[in-house]
Amino acid sequence: MKFVDLNALHQSIESELQSAIDTVIRTSSFIRGTHVEQFEKNYASLYTSKHCISCANGTDALFIALKALGAGLGDEVITTAHSWISTSETITLTGADVRFCDTEEDYFCIDPNKIEPLITSRTRGIIVVHLYGQTVDMDRIMALAQAHGLWVIEDCAQSHLATYKGRLVGTIGDVGTFSFYPGKNLGAMGDAGALITSRDDVADYSTLFARHGGKNNHVMEGINSRMDGLQAAILNVKLNHLEKWTEQRRLCANRYDALLHDVANITTPKVRADSKHVYHLYVIRTKQRDALRAFLKENGIPSIINYPRPLPLYSAYSRFRYTPDDFPVASQHAREILSLPMHPLLRDEEQQEVVEAIESFHNDHPLSMR
Ligand SMILES: *Cc1c(COP(=O)(O)O)cnc(C)c1O
Repeated sequence: MKFVDLNALHQSIESELQSAIDTVIRTSSFIRGTHVEQFEKNYASLYTSKHCISCANGTDALFIALKALGAGLGDEVITTAHSWISTSETITLTGADVRFCDTEEDYFCIDPNKIEPLITSRTRGIIVVHLYGQTVDMDRIMALAQAHGLWVIEDCAQSHLATYKGRLVGTIGDVGTFSFYPGKNLGAMGDAGALITSRDDVADYSTLFARHGGKNNHVMEGINSRMDGLQAAILNVKLNHLEKWTEQRRLCANRYDALLHDVANITTPKVRADSKHVYHLYVIRTKQRDALRAFLKENGIPSIINYPRPLPLYSAYSRFRYTPDDFPVASQHAREILSLPMHPLLRDEEQQEVVEAIESFHNDHPLSMR
């Protein structure tokens, strides 16, 4: 069994992919070009967003957005303690200081109740992460941002097509950033990323900054962050299937929910009211996480810990001298979370096999024996 079966997904649309790749070769449109322009149009229209600016990967999308919003030396940016490190390392890269915020018990996302005490006269913005395909409590975030004059970046690397109160995430804050890393819900065959925004100033700056500060006249210094034509052509094909694949992920999640319903000592993912989860990852919680994971591995079932520690507790942030008590919820989650196999073509039998293994683990390891 595979954790994510990209090959099966690609086999299912092989001829479409092949002809898209052939076109790129025949037209030599390798860097930017018509496929990239078409992708930017397609993605902006999918999100009914005024602008889509493509770039090399999801980390760059965050960095470009931060630069476009003016983050730099002397500024502070608040973000979640529970994410992939791109979210916080890009803040530091701009010269700004990262301020970590603990997460919500039920949804793994930044806890709006814990943001206000972190706001100082130097705070400029907040990066929220719609983690695992779940949504952040955006009403509360936007109210805080408005009250304190802050901008908001939504890191949507794991949440393509997720909705909050009927709105696609990525369109609620100032900027939405996306990764098209192969394993993401919309994945290329290499690295790719993009940001969407309705703000002309952010779009203009981002376009310049990502392309060496302009072509004929370099009006400023920038970086080189481009989407390849090949990746864009592949993404244009896969974009046509994204809604169906997202629906299939939801069906898989519903099946796991039902199968795990009566299994003791397992907490299944909760979904925020009025939100649509897109299950980039299906993450359960259990007190016996490490033993369960080892047992699953022995039985040929892959699982992943996303992520083994809260961000502030990695060595990269040892300068802050944080302890797990500074982020009690994220720290507790880091000890208990386990991501089960999840992809659009995951079969019913495979899911039953996963859940049967979890059940037999519990029969062998009753919690009272620990
Ligand atoms: C994958 C991911 C990124 C980074 O995307 P890349 O394309 O790998 O640079 C950023 N944030 C989150 C939450 C991610 O999961």
